[in-house]
Amino acid sequence: MKKTRLMAGLLLVMLFTAVNCVMALAGTSKINGHLDSVEGKAVSGWLWDSGKPEESQTVTVTVTDEHSGQVAAAVSVLASEYRGDLTEDGMGTGNYGFHVEIDWDSLPPSSYIISLSSGNTVISRKLRYASGDAAASPYRSLVPLGNFKLTAYCPCRICSEGWGRRTSSGALATASHTVAVDPRVIPIGSRLLINGQEYVAEDIGGAVKGHHIDVYYNTHAETRTHGTSSAEVFLIQE
Ligand SMILES: [Zn+2]
Repeated sequence: MKKTRLMAGLLLVMLFTAVNCVMALAGTSKINGHLDSVEGKAVSGWLWDSGKPEESQTVTVTVTDEHSGQVAAAVSVLASEYRGDLTEDGMGTGNYGFHVEIDWDSLPPSSYIISLSSGNTVISRKLRYASGDAAASPYRSLVPLGNFKLTAYCPCRICSEGWGRRTSSGALATASHTVAVDPRVIPIGSRLLINGQEYVAEDIGGAVKGHHIDVYYNTHAETRTHGTSSAEVFLIQE
């Protein structure tokens, strides 16, 4: 366990070093942006470089098939539409908004991840769009949070650290509903979609850190069956 932590620490240091090198190479470039929404064909958002507030940046909206991982469409446009809300937030001229059109009808029915980038900078927030059968999903807005390690726990003394069914949020843990998360990664109360099942982040755990989710089961036998796995986790926004 300690060895694992040391390795994780070392990896973090290496990552920060790498990020610093990239930042140094990029000079004063400080790109920040946001994908706001996908409504019908229109994908909108904003992006600016706070090191060059007078310039509008070219952004690329990329649509990736969630299942195959293939890029289905990529559209580039100058992010130069005026956005009053951005100037109110103290962002330069506010001329950083954009809209692009994605012709969903020309793409095979599937679920797609929409991402935003400018040059080598990829904005972390992504959106999801589903068409065909996938559109029948009751979840209109799913934000992919990435791949998580999944483990299982139960009310037994060992698993629950003596808490039984009581969760840190005060709710009683319920199977097929309660998961424990690292609240620095997923806020308590978040609705999550994991392997097609909806869960609520209601609990925390001493060993639940980072991209790790602990799924609640009624019995210890079930936690054994579950073991350790991994899955893409989505935040349900509506
Ligand atoms: Zn247990």
